[in-house]
Amino acid sequence: MGLFDNRFASKNAAMSRAFSIDSEKDKQKRNTAREPAAPKMGICDKCHKEALLRSYRSREMSVSDGAASFGTVVKHLCEDCAPRSKRFEDANVPAMDKKQVKNLMRSAKKGLL
Ligand SMILES: [Zn+2]
Repeated sequence: MGLFDNRFASKNAAMSRAFSIDSEKDKQKRNTAREPAAPKMGICDKCHKEALLRSYRSREMSVSDGAASFGTVVKHLCEDCAPRSKRFEDANVPAMDKKQVKNLMRSAKKGLL
């Protein structure tokens, strides 16, 4: 984790340096340019507040001329809108579904009786 972070951070530093040097090239190559993943100030894609943003890549399918193509879409989200996997799952997925609860209750009863 630490090693990865360090490598990531130095890579981002190098990238943002490169970005500021040839910002004009960047404009032209916008579609192919890689987004630095380091947090930076900007407008959140979701809540449109100015905040410290992180970029998140998500795969999206687009259909053009009847042909489906997969592309990577980068979204800039603030801390509040960021998909934090654990919190996300906790909020949206119940700990157990009803069947599981029933089964658990049943086996618990069996154990008691
Ligand atoms: Zn937001």
